[in-house]
Amino acid sequence: MFGKKITVTYIANSGVLVTSKKKQILIDGLHQSSAGFYHSTEKKTVEDIILGKAPFNSLDMLLFTHDHSDHFNAAYCREALKRNKHLQVVAPQSAAEKITSSPDYNEELKNQIKPIEASQTKPIVLSLKGIDIEVFSLNHDGASGDTTVNNAYLIQLGKKTMMFLGDAKADDSNFEAARVYGKPLDALFVPFTFIGLSAGREIIKKISPKKLIVVHLPDKDKDTNNLTEKTKAAYSKYSSDFPETVLFEKIGQQIVI
Ligand SMILES: [Zn+2]
Repeated sequence: MFGKKITVTYIANSGVLVTSKKKQILIDGLHQSSAGFYHSTEKKTVEDIILGKAPFNSLDMLLFTHDHSDHFNAAYCREALKRNKHLQVVAPQSAAEKITSSPDYNEELKNQIKPIEASQTKPIVLSLKGIDIEVFSLNHDGASGDTTVNNAYLIQLGKKTMMFLGDAKADDSNFEAARVYGKPLDALFVPFTFIGLSAGREIIKKISPKKLIVVHLPDKDKDTNNLTEKTKAAYSKYSSDFPETVLFEKIGQQIVI
């Protein structure tokens, strides 16, 4: 362990495992992507999470930003909850409902599931299992008709603050309205699209985190549109816009915050 430091391990796609001395949280880290070119959680990792095996043996919480297959899997969640009675899930209503609406679900799991959705103009602050979380509502990227509820989470662990955007759209007015700005952050996790888009870079500048971690990069072997390369090119071109930055490309990659 790293004393007051926090270790973040890349799991798959936007999925990361956050480990402090006392707490362990998995964000968007339990899924089976049907999108094709994004990483899914590896089979062995899914098993270890469900069975509570190391390094997931002290997992306190599974956080999910939204109900898309490359971020969330309801059946895996149900299994993990059944076998780990201390485990808590936090997710938007749509994802929580997928966990509960199955013949495999039993009411005993109810207290382990916390559906939560903030309004577009007011974050929700909650403390669960000794972990302080702020929930923001940020529109999902993509077509304007996409109504997927996307939660962004600000987590405070000890003296460190981290924010996870899920698949937020790079839309300054939405970030402004949701009251994201003005919070000092040690680490901000962004989808790779934020690097290539000027609106994304502006948002990063306004948030001004100490560290930037780029997630949601495609699986290298399936990246036919060369999105990783394009992201790196945009990063080099605008590198002075960014704080210290890490790209999560390799499963198992770790950083210390
Ligand atoms: Zn999504």
